[in-house]
Amino acid sequence: MKHGSPCSRRRAEQRLPPHSCALFEKGPHGDQIVSGLLPDHGGRMATARSPCNPQSTVDLGAQYITRTPHYAKKHQSFYDELLAHGILKPLTSPIEGMVMKEGDCNFVAPQGLSSIVKHYLKESGAEVSFRHRVTQINLRNDKWEVSEERGSPERFDIVVLTMPVPQILQLRGDIANLISECQRQQLESVRYSSRYALGLFYEAGTKIDVPWAGQYITSNPCTRFISIDNKKRNIESSEVGPSLVVHTTVPFAVTYLEHSTEDVQELIYQQLESILPGLPQPVVTKCQKWRYSQ
Ligand SMILES: Cc1cc2nc3c(=O)[nH]c(=O)nc-3n(C[C@H](O)[C@H](O)[C@H](O)COP(=O)(O)OP(=O)(O)OC[C@H]3O[C@@H](n4cnc5c(N)ncnc54)[C@H](O)[C@@H]3O)c2cc1C
Repeated sequence: MKHGSPCSRRRAEQRLPPHSCALFEKGPHGDQIVSGLLPDHGGRMATARSPCNPQSTVDLGAQYITRTPHYAKKHQSFYDELLAHGILKPLTSPIEGMVMKEGDCNFVAPQGLSSIVKHYLKESGAEVSFRHRVTQINLRNDKWEVSEERGSPERFDIVVLTMPVPQILQLRGDIANLISECQRQQLESVRYSSRYALGLFYEAGTKIDVPWAGQYITSNPCTRFISIDNKKRNIESSEVGPSLVVHTTVPFAVTYLEHSTEDVQELIYQQLESILPGLPQPVVTKCQKWRYSQ
């Protein structure tokens, strides 16, 4: 359902006749989030904003975009467009332990990774319905009938599903029988890692005294990656407090997948303090579980 935006763009490029495109997203729209503590909509390209200062953001999911030589050949126009709009900028700050392959180029998003999704949603002209969880897909008179948790079913000529594969397999209705046994086996064999992310927001003027913007950690059972998120994007301002994000290791997330977020947050924070002793106290935190990470 999501990312009707690249679909719309491809149709325009191929000079296909105008069409109307509807997009259903189970998550809330960023602007509907009153507390500011939930991430801006962007799926796994989620960006959380501090309720104290919306300019203070952390990427809770994807951290940067890697343009490999293969992607450069296939998708250069997408990179050009995002760079021209200032949505992407080259990653120039130091990330310790990052493995770079020859020809790769990394980009960060100054407004947070969710700004990529927002850009394409706007470009697509699609009618976007947030808080609409698709539950069933049926075939009715050569049309696809899409049912949601609430509201009446709607009919479409074409349906594109872009949620993680296990969530596609949870859909009910004719779709479950239309997937061939072979396709089902292939889909069921797709494996996802799980991770937790903890975002921390600090008061303006707080100093986090480390010589890097990001660091991959290999020697801690809980912590895999730390990013001083504003520094990662080369944004240092006396008016906006710094922000930090920690990603856990996959084994840690698997062990604590069904525990309460509060307990898990405490464990992640304890480990972070052991890695960065003397870390100042954050003013706000946001812990995010990624059951289907990558
Ligand atoms: C911790 C983490 C770190 C990552 N790091 C990087 C990185 O550095 N670089 C990189 O390139 N990639 C990274 N990724 C991967 C990247 O985020 C994903 O590949 C990308 O965001 C996938 O986009 P998508 O639109 O395919 O899926 P998603 O972003 O998962 O979007 C699927 C959407 O479908 C919605 N949905 C699900 N079920 C339903 C339903 N029933 N009805 C309606 N809507 C539904 C979800 O709410 C979601 O918004 C990372 C991911 C995670 C979690």
